[in-house]
This record gives sequence, structure tokens and C-alpha cells, in this order.
Amino acid sequence: MSTSLAVYAASENNSRGRHHVEPVPQYRGEYQRDRDRIVHSAAFRRLEYKTQVFVNHEGDMFRTRLTHSLEVAQIARSIARVLQLNEDLAETIALAHDLGHTPFGHAGQDALNDCMRDYGGFEHNLQSLRVVDELEERYAEFPGLNLTYEAREGILKHCSINKARELGDVAERFLQNRQPTLEAQMVNLADEIAYNNHDVDDGLRAGLLSLEQLESVELIRVHLHEVRKRYAALSGRKLIYETIRRMINTLIVDLVETSQARIREVSPQNIDEVRSQSLALIGFSAAMRERSLELKRFLRTNLYRHYRVHRMTAKADRMLKELFHAYMSDIRLLPPEHQQYAHQDEAAIGSSGRARAVADYIAGMTDRFAIAEYRRIFDPRELT
Ligand code: MG
Repeated sequence: MSTSLAVYAASENNSRGRHHVEPVPQYRGEYQRDRDRIVHSAAFRRLEYKTQVFVNHEGDMFRTRLTHSLEVAQIARSIARVLQLNEDLAETIALAHDLGHTPFGHAGQDALNDCMRDYGGFEHNLQSLRVVDELEERYAEFPGLNLTYEAREGILKHCSINKARELGDVAERFLQNRQPTLEAQMVNLADEIAYNNHDVDDGLRAGLLSLEQLESVELIRVHLHEVRKRYAALSGRKLIYETIRRMINTLIVDLVETSQARIREVSPQNIDEVRSQSLALIGFSAAMRERSLELKRFLRTNLYRHYRVHRMTAKADRMLKELFHAYMSDIRLLPPEHQQYAHQDEAAIGSSGRARAVADYIAGMTDRFAIAEYRRIFDPRELT
């Protein structure tokens, strides 16, 4: 594998290693080991029952955080191979990028962030890092998964200046206006390609979006017209999928070619020269960025704010906030193990420690667990 890597790709030879030094793995690389640890983690399995846009129980055909993460990994690996980047690292970052997501998608994240306002806030991206660094309990010698620096750096996509100061080396680029690996830059955009396209697909499937509406978006219109011209009789799922696969391909081709040109221009000779850039080298062309933004705006207005999605969002917001306040006012409502974390964290740093333990517990819930827990705590008919 290493022979096909570009000089500016992440590799075991230039890795900044793991926090706790471990023996070199047998028959697999360090980034493969990272990926394997993620696949075996409890947080990864729970992604199956966490909302992407639609609540998990609304139907079995919609994307969940798990299938979304697999789509991101697929796109990221394809791009990594063309750009001669490290496929294993790209796959690792893709599979881990949403581990910190709350139940109920962005509604859950916003609700927890509101609850945590006086206690340091809540951000799913930081929570993903917290999951792999601290919350997973699997190994005798260290907390978390002890991933490589490059995997952790890739998971931490954004970070405020204050948080960056707290987090230390993994966040130093936010203080220095530097870049992460090309693998990290690329997975970030693979994520965007995946959700923009599958949200169109899921929105149509759910009947919240119509093809007529979608024709107002240039990126969709161009491909829809092309498909209709070529297959005049095509309709239904096949028409939609033939359009979406062309959109995904166009975005990937643009990303690859634009990034290749920027890399050629800057010509980094090693990974340090990638990190020291003030601007990302992986990106879309200006025209494609504009088209992608138009699609995002369309989805925000017509799908994410659709009244049927909003009703779910509003309900999720109420449930998570009520759960948070119930646990905060009576820690004994938590399972004993989590009571223990709350006591430990409170003893260490005060009430924000207690709040953090409660937020960790809620963030770890799946959609259906959160609903069941809400019933157990608030519904007088549930006395178990
Ligand atoms: Mg994502």
C-alpha cells in the first residue's frame, strides 16, 4: 500500500502516533487498527438507531447515521485512491465522524447545547472526539480507543478557540490557522457529498420533496434533464436514482480535479507542508461550490424545515431537555454506573462535571432508547 501513496499523504512513517504507546500491530497497519477499533466500538453500533434526518422508526428505508457513515466511507475511499491518499485513514475518519451524534439528529444536538449553555456547551463534533478519547471502555491499559493522532485530528472537524486551548495538541491547528491532513480535509467534503445526495433521495421517498420542486436547483436540474433526454420513458425510483448517481459523480469528479490542480500548484513535499498551508488544498471549484450551496439552501428550506420534520424536531427537543433537567435535579434517575460518573466528575470540576456526565449519557442514547427512557421517567402508566 505504501508504494502507491503520494509524498503528502498520511502514513505510518510520518504518523504522530498514539497517546499510549502500543506494540506494532501484526498483519495490519496502524490506521487499519484504528478503523477496526471503531467498527468494534459500542458507539458505532448505536449509529444504526440514530436519526440522520428522519427518526429511525419512521421507516426502514431511510438513512440512519450508520448507513450515512458507510456512504461517506465509500466516497472517501474512492477519492483517497485517486489522489493517492491513505485509504485506511480516510475510512477511519469517515466511520468515526458521527460517533458523537445525539439521538434525533441536529434537533438533539441543539437541545443538548441549550441545556449545556452554562456548562461549556455541547457540540457533536467534539463529542465524537470525546467518545474515542474517553467514553469507550474496552481496553485494560487506557481509556477510549487510543487512536492515532491523525484519526483524532480528522474527527475534530471544527473547534472554537477556547475549546482548542483546552484540547491541546489535537486542536493546535485551530490556534495556528493551519490545516489537517488531506485525508481529513477530503472526508469532510465526502460527508457533504453523501448527505446532500441522500437527503434528496430520502426527502423524495418520504414524499416531503417533489421532483418539480427539485428542478429549481441547478445541480439537480442539469442531471434530471440529461436522464429524461436519454431515457424518455423512465420514471419513479429509477429516474431519481439515475439523477442522483450523476450528481454524486459530478461532485466527486470536480472535487478530484480541483484538488489535483491545487496540490500540483502548491506541490507539498511532505505532510508538514500540507499542514502549514493557511487554506485547504482539497475542495470544489468555485462554480461547483456555488451549486452545492444552492442545494444545501434548498434542503434547509424545503426539507429540514418541513413541518413534518419540524414536528419531530420540536418533540425531540422537548424530550431531551426534560430528560436533561430530570437527571440534573435527581442524579439517582441515572443507571448506577452513570451516577458514579456524575459524582466523580462533580467532585473533580463541580456542577459542570455533573452536567457533562448527564450530557454524555443522553448523547449516547439511540432514538428509540431516548423515547423509551422518556416514557419510563415521565409516563405514570410506565411503572417499571
Ligand atoms: Mg456526517
